[in-house]
Amino acid sequence: MYVILLGPPGAGKGTQAVQTAERTGLLHLSTGDMFRENLRNGTELGNLAKTYMDQGELVPDDVTIRMLLERIGRDDARAGCLFDGFPRTVEQAKALDEALSEQGNEIAVTILIDVSNEEITRRLGGRVSCATCGSVFHEIFNPPNAGSPCCGTVKMIQRDDDKPEAIANRLQVYADQTEPLVDYYNQTGKLASVNGEQSSQAVGEDLLTALQAVSS
Ligand code: ADP
Ligand code: ADP
Ligand code: ZN
Repeated sequence: MYVILLGPPGAGKGTQAVQTAERTGLLHLSTGDMFRENLRNGTELGNLAKTYMDQGELVPDDVTIRMLLERIGRDDARAGCLFDGFPRTVEQAKALDEALSEQGNEIAVTILIDVSNEEITRRLGGRVSCATCGSVFHEIFNPPNAGSPCCGTVKMIQRDDDKPEAIANRLQVYADQTEPLVDYYNQTGKLASVNGEQSSQAVGEDLLTALQAVSS
């Protein structure tokens, strides 16, 4: 089963994808994580992506599509994936539809995680991640626990693109380039939506309900 989590930066896609992948066994694929991993490994792709990510701009479609299609062609993606942060443009969505259809597959459902801009700003402003494993926390809403620290330490880092200047641009980029996907998937009757302004646990329950509705 191929499932897309759609929503603005900070909506909780990554948080939900990690939990949902554990519960369903779907492979979690985040293009943002792939770019950041390339950057850590000092690859050419990582260095190229960084110039866009730091500005809050999208990495060009050709590069992003090539990376994602290579990844879903591997054996461990055969049974399906949970896409987090891809597609982000109509061109990416079309490329994904074509590639899946060549394998006789299709998107089962695209789930929009609906969150207001105000809440997004609060979430991105406090987002931090474990310096060792990359697990995502929030300084107030989901603080790293001093009693049981992640990876044995509470050392947390903030992403460069979660600084206020980059956040505003990312919200604009979302409205201009990614929000049209809501109509794109709605037209095929494959859009579901969940209220993202609940506890992560409640959002997770709603997501599972939406998945059960298409997998039976
Ligand atoms: P967020 O969690 O805020 O939604 P991501 O980790 O998904 O952010 O992405 C971080 C950055 O990586 C984006 O701002 C963009 O520069 C780049 N990126 C990630 N996915 C894509 C994509 N599908 N197309 C283009 N750029 C992408
Ligand atoms: P995305 O992948 O969509 O950019 P994240 O999953 O990284 O979003 O979440 C953004 C921030 O909001 C993180 O700091 C995360 O801990 C926090 N967060 C996620 N879901 C919730 C929620 N339901 N309530 C409050 N904070 C949340
Ligand atoms: Zn950790």
